[in-house]
Amino acid sequence: MHYYSTRSGRNHVTASEAVLKGLAPDGGLFVPEETPQAYTETDFPSGSYQELAYEIFSRFLGDFSSSQIQQVVRAAYNLETFDHPAVTPLVRLTDQVYILELWHGPTSAFKDIALQALPHLLNTAAQKSDDNKEIVILTATSGDTGKSALEGFRDVPGITIAVYFPEKGVSEIQKLQMTTQEGSNVHVIAVRGNFDDTQTGVKQIFSNPAINRELEEAGFRLSSANSINWGRLLPQIVYYFSTYQELLSRGRLKKGEPVNFVVPTGNFGNILAGYYAYLLGLPVNRLICAANRNNVLSDFINSGIYDKRRTLYNSLSPSMDILVSSNLERLLFELTDHDPERISSWMNQLNESGYYKIDRETLSRLQQLFWSDYADDDETLATVAKTHRESGYLVDPHTAVGINVLDKYLAGVNDRHPTVVLSTASPYKFTGSTIKAIVGSNRYKQCSELELIKILERETGAPVPENLAELEQKPVLHRQTINPDEMPDQLQSMLISR
Ligand SMILES: *Cc1c(COP(=O)(O)O)cnc(C)c1O
Repeated sequence: MHYYSTRSGRNHVTASEAVLKGLAPDGGLFVPEETPQAYTETDFPSGSYQELAYEIFSRFLGDFSSSQIQQVVRAAYNLETFDHPAVTPLVRLTDQVYILELWHGPTSAFKDIALQALPHLLNTAAQKSDDNKEIVILTATSGDTGKSALEGFRDVPGITIAVYFPEKGVSEIQKLQMTTQEGSNVHVIAVRGNFDDTQTGVKQIFSNPAINRELEEAGFRLSSANSINWGRLLPQIVYYFSTYQELLSRGRLKKGEPVNFVVPTGNFGNILAGYYAYLLGLPVNRLICAANRNNVLSDFINSGIYDKRRTLYNSLSPSMDILVSSNLERLLFELTDHDPERISSWMNQLNESGYYKIDRETLSRLQQLFWSDYADDDETLATVAKTHRESGYLVDPHTAVGINVLDKYLAGVNDRHPTVVLSTASPYKFTGSTIKAIVGSNRYKQCSELELIKILERETGAPVPENLAELEQKPVLHRQTINPDEMPDQLQSMLISR
């Protein structure tokens, strides 16, 4: 299978080139040239999580050998990387509603699922290209992605990773997670400034021809691990299939019977993977897109108008605080039967005027499968509390947004299909909000985040993930703090003078 750009229908590349390049040269995203052939009842995939991953990866990675795909799957999903044999366990909340826990990886958040696989996909892809350069991953992070990328890339041969975070722009736990990072190929650097300063610094390195040339001559090739890379999307298709199989094996479904998925959404990556699962023949009734107060996406799905001209709020579900959901471009490409002209014109309008409006037919196709609403912060906290009270189950604020939006959906329709809410973070990753919701007050406002972990454990009895429990004992290994304008020089000296 080959890939090409959403904005031109050109730039044809192999799967490994798509993974290595990340973004197409015309600014578009790489997508499969042909809509993948759907599975039928006779060849519908089944097996362990790893077997499903192997099967689905094979579908999309045309130029990878089967033993290379085996190696990627083995390295990404095992009992060292995920603390549950199912990788993404399914928990029953009610007769109708199930929670899919996507946070059993090394950093207790869902990005681990893709970022445990991407480094091995990149490493394999790099071996196919003949330039023998060492890949240098540069990542600016406002929190979770940085740690998840560090864990994924650590000690992967042929790759070095540098993560930059805003000195005062991440939580205490997030900072500790990064500054205690082990691995022989990792660099963690605090930047004086906010996330924008940090991200601008990284972008300037990428777009500076002199730095790129100098690094290239020294044997390095810059790359990023950001969420528009096809290698981040592909691994996420797997858990939609594993969930369906789990519901079948629990007797909760008959073969071919459709299910709903509710996805707390930011950059539209997770839910887009659900859409590709649907294209592959997974019986899906509805994909429910759950947004927070930054409700650009729910407005879009309900009106066909994407309008980013609005204030960005800092919500209690920060990983969903996004105004431009990059991966939506891929969905529109599929919904228009691969029409790069329409996609470019919408994306240009978004760039130039801050909004675009899709045509009626595309909107009606979108609404046939997708449904969307949002939850504000008060509703989010109330849902954390209600879920805990009624089911004894503790959710983080992102997952609570999903449950709240599901309640809104079910209130308006008669839909009895089994429904799976994707849980994107452990409640211990967002202890402050979770405790506030459970105890119903700001009583613990003065406590440090490490103390809050213990308090939440005492209040709820929910088990603390090991990576967070052991954080307190870990030595800080990275102490460098620099100004944004020092980033290029620091990178060069870090790489070249080692
Ligand atoms: C990244 C993230 C999301 C949003 O996922 P997208 O793929 O960007 O839609 C939701 N919840 C958590 C905890 C995340 O880290």
